[in-house]
Amino acid sequence: MIGPILIRFGNTEQQKRFLPRILSCEDWWCQGFSEPGAGSDLASLRTRAVRIDGGWLVSGSKTWTTYAQYANWIFCLVRTDPEVKKQQGISMMLIDMSAPGVSRRPIRLMDGTDEVNEIFLDNVFVPDDLVVGELNKGWTYAKALLEHERLGIGGVGRSKHLLSRVREMAGAVAMVDDPEISARLAGFEVDIMAIEATTLRLLAAAEAGRTLGAETSLLKVRGTEVQQGLTELMLDIAGPAALPESASDCADALFSNVAYQFLNWRKLSIYGGSNEIQRSILAGQVLGL
Ligand SMILES: Cc1cc2nc3c(=O)[nH]c(=O)nc-3n(C[C@H](O)[C@H](O)[C@H](O)COP(=O)(O)OP(=O)(O)OC[C@H]3O[C@@H](n4cnc5c(N)ncnc54)[C@H](O)[C@@H]3O)c2cc1C
Repeated sequence: MIGPILIRFGNTEQQKRFLPRILSCEDWWCQGFSEPGAGSDLASLRTRAVRIDGGWLVSGSKTWTTYAQYANWIFCLVRTDPEVKKQQGISMMLIDMSAPGVSRRPIRLMDGTDEVNEIFLDNVFVPDDLVVGELNKGWTYAKALLEHERLGIGGVGRSKHLLSRVREMAGAVAMVDDPEISARLAGFEVDIMAIEATTLRLLAAAEAGRTLGAETSLLKVRGTEVQQGLTELMLDIAGPAALPESASDCADALFSNVAYQFLNWRKLSIYGGSNEIQRSILAGQVLGL
């Protein structure tokens, strides 16, 4: 998510410093956009940065920060000018997770994992050279970053992998010829082909120099509908074997984690901007309604 933004908007120093370490996985980045009270209405974010000599003191809190427990860097949206229209006073900053004043509290999810976190920033010093691009242009950079994020969430690879697992599950319980199950499987296969073709079309345009654009919201909506639909089909095929207790009794690893995956993947239609918000983006920016 942050790599393409540094390539497009970052300065040469930032590109040299961070891009190779992203490729080599020496750095793991997390995303500090959402805050309590600023999710869909992201521009209302309240984490603020106060100017001091040589940089900024950042204070506030971020939430739902995925895998922050593994990250050594976080890219954050912060308010650098509270006086102007809310979208115009936001900047993007790169913050070292080990900097004094950064702390983290895990959030327990309904599947029992804690892949998301709250992040607290208490007078964290951010030097000027860790501000991305121009000051107060963070909203523009955030929109570009979210287009990349939504392309990824479209998840063609993830869907194909899951489809083959669901087929295997249906085969294991002799349901693959069941007319309803086979129709649902075929429907997902067709959807995935359409999403893949659309993804490739957008990637080809990006390769030819065009920016991704709001069309990636389409991939986010349809891709996550397919992925969630596949987890529902998994539940229907597994029946009682989807329950954690019975899954542990099941000799076949194919049926383990079915209920957990179903619950965990409810997140897909929420993160990266909820699907309701994506529909509004598509209506306004793509269809011109
Ligand atoms: C598992 C998970 C991981 C996440 N990881 C990250 C992360 O790493 N970094 C990060 O910054 N954020 C992350 N998020 C946050 C995510 O981007 C937000 O949850 C999301 O944008 C929705 O914001 P919200 O939770 O505040 O819900 P709200 O904005 O309060 O929305 C609640 C409901 O109201 C609907 N709604 C709100 N406004 C409108 C509207 N104008 N029109 C129609 N419907 C509307 C929404 O669609 C939703 O159904 C993560 C979230 C989850 C669940």
